[in-house]
Amino acid sequence: MANKNGNKKSPDNNRLEKIASISPGVIYQFERRPDGTAYFPYASDKLKDIYGVTPEEAFQDASSVFKVIHPSDLEYVASSILDSETHLTPWCCEYRVILNGEERWVRGHSIPEQTEDGTVIWSGLIMDITEQKEIEHELAVSKERLERAQRIAKLGYWRADFATGELEWSEIIFEIFGFDKRKTTPSVELFRSVVHPADLPTVLVHEEKARETGVYDIQHRIIRPDGEVRWVHELADFRGEAEGSNPVLFGTVRDITDQKRLEESLRELSITDSLTQLHNRRHVLNVMQGLIATAQRYDRGFSILMYDFDRFKHVNDTYGHSVGDEVLSRVSKLVRGELRQCDIVARLGGEEFVVVLPDTELMDALAVAEKLRQRISEIEFTSSSHDTFFITATFGVTAFELGDMHPDDLLKRADSLMYQGKQAGRNRVMVSQQNTIS
Ligand code: GH3
Ligand code: MG
Ligand code: MG
Repeated sequence: MANKNGNKKSPDNNRLEKIASISPGVIYQFERRPDGTAYFPYASDKLKDIYGVTPEEAFQDASSVFKVIHPSDLEYVASSILDSETHLTPWCCEYRVILNGEERWVRGHSIPEQTEDGTVIWSGLIMDITEQKEIEHELAVSKERLERAQRIAKLGYWRADFATGELEWSEIIFEIFGFDKRKTTPSVELFRSVVHPADLPTVLVHEEKARETGVYDIQHRIIRPDGEVRWVHELADFRGEAEGSNPVLFGTVRDITDQKRLEESLRELSITDSLTQLHNRRHVLNVMQGLIATAQRYDRGFSILMYDFDRFKHVNDTYGHSVGDEVLSRVSKLVRGELRQCDIVARLGGEEFVVVLPDTELMDALAVAEKLRQRISEIEFTSSSHDTFFITATFGVTAFELGDMHPDDLLKRADSLMYQGKQAGRNRVMVSQQNTIS
């Protein structure tokens, strides 16, 4: 008796049908003759589930099977078969079929053999992989979303094994650290080489602490291969994996460079006087408070000099307020340029300024004040109506004295010296202990 495929029923065929019924897909043979005709000498019943074609129909004519292949994939399938036929290499192909209006993914795998007359017979398996494809797609979508979220948040995740030095980085970390993912194998050593040398000791201390406490929370700089310095925030959790295995640090890294720059510029803004670009009163008071603490502890003195412009109201009244502003700003630039980097120049308010000179004795401060007084008086200003004029300032100079507790103690002294200078005729430097110059 012939079975549905035209083959004789035999114990062998019975066995095959049994195996086919428990196989995850269609077991089949596909034959293509030299004249181009093709058919399926054998196909298990599952052919109907995938292609909607019975094994009998496929036995008659293979084209019924090809008709349900997605039109966009048909050419690809045909060329993969041709390729397998030409080289007699295994045929592996993933493609879509459309059955009852529904799109399904299938994967075929078969081995070709050629008979003497040139006929090629493939034996293999075709499986429905739609669910797997959907899972793969969902996985790809969530991976893509995760990558995008990481990119937006500039946040990557990593895993470090300190015993072996192995390090795993998520995609975005390569971007933050400026490495090409294809050419880089992350390692603890590589990470440490990127850490800013000034921050490395702190990073190492934090790593060590993390081993004990399990907590790792640090902000530090890195230097990328292109030389760019960036700030990162590392947060991690130290854990042993399985019993007896190496302790492993899991963590995140976030690029906080923009945030740091913003913080820095806000800090600068909060301590800067907008007209003169010198420091403001708040900042100089802080600095002085710090210097007082140091002076009290370590016998390291400092001096301050205060100055106020002479008859500044007159400048405003004669040449206008904006010319007055320009005077303040130009003189400030000059004063700043005359001083050391470590000296602080600040606008206390109006046209009253203070210079703080760390590690400077009174007599040296006096010399600085005298130099500034001289320089200021030499600047020639031009009004909007092209009149030229000069300006002078009166200075009060004092140094830290034992018993000074608060910046105001020095400022009051300097202010009263300045007042004395004004009384004495202006354009002069008055110094503590009633020393007067010029
Ligand atoms: P003195 O020699 O006694 O110091 O006389 P003065 O006219 O300078 O008197 P005082 O220091 O008391 O006056 C400060 C004047 O400085 C008042 C104000 O018109 C002017 N002034 C204060 N702040 C500014 C400013 O930001 N811009 C300008 N253009 N003028 C200012
Ligand atoms: Mg004044
Ligand atoms: Mg004043």
